[in-house]
Amino acid sequence: MGDKIDGKAIALGVKENIKNFIETRKLNGMNIPKVASILVGNDGGSLFYLNNQEKVAVSLGLEFEKIHLSDNVTEDNLIKKIEELNNDNSVNGIILQLPLPKNMDEKKIISSISPEKDIDCLTFVNQGKLYMGEETFMPCTPKSVLTILKSLNINLEGMEVVVVGRSNIVGKPAAALMLKENCTVTICHSRTKNLKEVCKRADILIVAIGKAKFIDESYIKDDAIVIDVGTNSVEGKITGDVDFEKVINKAAFVTPVPGGVGALTTTLLMKNVCEALEKYEN
Ligand code: NDP
Repeated sequence: MGDKIDGKAIALGVKENIKNFIETRKLNGMNIPKVASILVGNDGGSLFYLNNQEKVAVSLGLEFEKIHLSDNVTEDNLIKKIEELNNDNSVNGIILQLPLPKNMDEKKIISSISPEKDIDCLTFVNQGKLYMGEETFMPCTPKSVLTILKSLNINLEGMEVVVVGRSNIVGKPAAALMLKENCTVTICHSRTKNLKEVCKRADILIVAIGKAKFIDESYIKDDAIVIDVGTNSVEGKITGDVDFEKVINKAAFVTPVPGGVGALTTTLLMKNVCEALEKYEN
């Protein structure tokens, strides 16, 4: 029987680091990191994330500016607001809640965020750096995956990693981060042939497909590490893409849902804000 990875415990460690970072800055009379988070419209899920970001930011000692705009706001006015934040030296990080209302040109609006403040790696500039293996802000969900793997204190180099899912926000950037760790990386998607056989090669299996309990023990190599990114609502309960109860009997480590990858993401976003402040000062 494998071990359940405790994402909340890992998050606590990161939270302590951030609190210490901010405490030390306060004692030395230095600026406190500040993040601005923009929501357009009233999407329930996005509103939940916005409020949660505020709660986490404030609990860690960051300054938080909540910008909740009506879905009648024009693209020009939204871009103007983003440019204002770009030019405000007290703001270190900008979060734009996605998706934007359907009538808006999402790519154009994302491109107006200054890459120096794009702490969730949405802009083409920062994504380009990510795929070139250069230093940039790591997007928070793949960063959570990597932070969990690093917490296991294993040598990632040369490991066979299979990522199931190729979205721009999870699958592709997670694969890029693992490649940077010198893993051998395969990306699978809905057209992959023999998915089960490919997954069974994995020392580390990262799953982000949005299909509840899709991956069972028949996809797993003995003693593999399984990272479940999925969050699916099943009968009002959040459920992962991995059938945890079945997979834990075969794998060495498995992340639960909830309490795994998702337990770290907002905290890591705030860590990126701290890094943005440090980069700005240097
Ligand atoms: P997307 O819907 O954007 O992408 C899903 C990917 O899975 C696609 O690449 C798709 O392939 C692939 N896929 C779908 N079905 C299969 C299948 N049967 N076999 C193989 N591949 C398949 O999802 P996201 O990446 O945005 O999210 C994935 C999951 O992660 C969701 O449950 C989401 O809620 C969760 N999530 C969790 C976060 C967290 O912080 N914990 C953050 C973000 C997402 P194709 O490209 O061919 O269509």
